Amino acid sequence: MHEIEQTDELASVVGSARCAGLSHGFVPTMGCLHAGHLKLIDTSRKENDVTVLSVYVNPSQFGPSEDLGRYPRDIVRDRALAESAGVDILFRPSDAVMYPDGLQGQSVWVDPGDLGTGMEGEFRPGHFRGVATVVAKLLEMVRPDRMYLGQKDAQQAVVLSRMVRDLALAVTVRVIPTVREPDGLALSSRNIYLSTEERLEAAALNRGLEEAEHQYANGGRDAGHLTQIVREVLARDAPGGRIDYIAVVDAKTLKPVVGEVQGATLICLAVWFGSTRLIDNVSLAAE
Ligand code: AMP
Repeated sequence: MHEIEQTDELASVVGSARCAGLSHGFVPTMGCLHAGHLKLIDTSRKENDVTVLSVYVNPSQFGPSEDLGRYPRDIVRDRALAESAGVDILFRPSDAVMYPDGLQGQSVWVDPGDLGTGMEGEFRPGHFRGVATVVAKLLEMVRPDRMYLGQKDAQQAVVLSRMVRDLALAVTVRVIPTVREPDGLALSSRNIYLSTEERLEAAALNRGLEEAEHQYANGGRDAGHLTQIVREVLARDAPGGRIDYIAVVDAKTLKPVVGEVQGATLICLAVWFGSTRLIDNVSLAAE
């Protein structure tokens, strides 16, 4: 595995592989790797000759009062996991590489518009501007054929897929289903911060989403009712959770569904357990 920190070295390694006709898959992450990330890596390996993994905790996607300083970092473990997962190139840029003029010195940003203002964007203003900007830069540096994203961060996947389309970026976006613990909790780097009790309660997120999905499968179509089902499961099984939002939205536009659910829809939520904020979602298939 090549471990690379500088863009010129990355360009030369990726460039020579491309000249040899090899295809590239790219998995952008913030590190602290878990089985969700490994699934993305595994899918990339199956579909490409070369897999590039980036590990970069992007400061511009964290708000001033968010957990940038506390975000878990463990490059020794990440390196070992990446190596054993068969990553070919581990790209580990520094802040100076990603933001050569500093965050304040960066003038041009990628603004995802309305897609970035609801749900996560409402509670984390500027988050998706930071995400879209850093991923646009990473795509330019790596120039992959395919980029692998997790459905776990559904809004992020929609924003980045739309960015690729609207900016005519030459990459195919592949969105991979959420990897979960046996009790349904979506794997997340932040799960390590949950206390034993919070961890038990956190399983209610998926349980609530599954109950709503079950209701939908049985003909339940009212968005308000589906939201209420999730809310009731959380009240029953996760009384310590503090809800930021539970939203039923159109899977493409991310606009809230009012009244009857029609077509591809997502139920998304964000819930705090103590000082840890978790997100999850379920897709309701279009009929
Ligand atoms: P992160 O390191 O949290 O920024 O995540 C990097 C990528 O891994 C993103 O595309 C996430 O959506 C994806 N990811 C995170 N958790 C999971 C999961 N449990 N299952 C599948 N993909 C995930």
